[in-house]
Amino acid sequence: MSLTDKYGRDIHDLRVSITDRCNYKCVYCRSGNHGPSFPELPIADYLRMVRVFIGLGITKVRLTGGEPLLRQGLVDMVRELGRMRTLDGRRLDIAITTNGHLLAELAQPLADAGLSRVSVSMDAVEPQHFARITRAPNGYERVLAGIRTAHSAGLNPVKVNCVLLRGFNDDQITGFGRFARDEGVVVRFIEFMPLEEDRVWSPEIVVTLDEIVERMAEFMPLREIEHQHSETARRYVFEDGIGEIGIIAPVSHPFCGQCSRIRVTSDGKIRTCLFSVREHDLAGLMATGASEEDMADFIRGAVDHKEARHHIGEPGFVPASRTMVHIGG
Ligand code: SAM
Repeated sequence: MSLTDKYGRDIHDLRVSITDRCNYKCVYCRSGNHGPSFPELPIADYLRMVRVFIGLGITKVRLTGGEPLLRQGLVDMVRELGRMRTLDGRRLDIAITTNGHLLAELAQPLADAGLSRVSVSMDAVEPQHFARITRAPNGYERVLAGIRTAHSAGLNPVKVNCVLLRGFNDDQITGFGRFARDEGVVVRFIEFMPLEEDRVWSPEIVVTLDEIVERMAEFMPLREIEHQHSETARRYVFEDGIGEIGIIAPVSHPFCGQCSRIRVTSDGKIRTCLFSVREHDLAGLMATGASEEDMADFIRGAVDHKEARHHIGEPGFVPASRTMVHIGG
């Protein structure tokens, strides 16, 4: 069985936000004035939802937020996910996206509990610049320690995600090239999307894939390598074969045609696209005492409404009904 939408896309990648609280206030994401805005569900409710999604063909689960490492019970949740099996009897691919602030303490327990991989968000390789972006003290040292602990705990490849904004942190591109090689991590640049609380996005702020490749050549040229059809990142290695860079380019090179994702927000709403203006209240359905069969039907109904594509940069663009921190990136 698989979850297929009306455009023939196979949906097998579930992202679950387990809180919209965050201990960083990254300037391009949060205004600094809004706190958490949506309730959290008991962990058991997310696990029940995941079980139903797996029954429909989901093979990969990414926990996100807000900051997922703030959530009490996270390690036990990963252990429970680790016990689940996909429809063809395999272990789930379990990943977490984190700012890394608490990762040094949690990487080993999470790896022991069954976590497969971790992506750490990091938007500067210079400590002072990092602090200006995150508006949190001592973050750089903690995140670096987290990345190294994740590496030695076997959560490999550790991916480091960086969102670039023109005139703000695009001077970090070549530094990240060096960082990828020195730390043995895959650095992935993500194009900035209009999902921020402050609504400052403009096409000019986006540092595009082509430009990143060109700017990285000042450090060392990149060579593109093969990537799987459903992979969102274009993958590159440096010309000497050492160090991998990925570029996720939803703005300049949209990949909606290959989208395999579906999301559940911290308050249990299904979102079929980052840019959805409509949500499907799975938690609300559960609260009425719905059976797993009812939930599966509801999920199939939501997938039927999955958007064909986003409309970033187009004249009639309608902003998403939530911003990134409240969706779960
Ligand atoms: N707190 C976790 C973290 O920092 O990774 C998970 C949530 S955070 C919202 C997930 C990712 O979304 C981060 O890598 C962040 O940089 C990215 N992000 C936030 N706002 C974005 C935007 N407007 N466009 C592109 N990526 C964005």
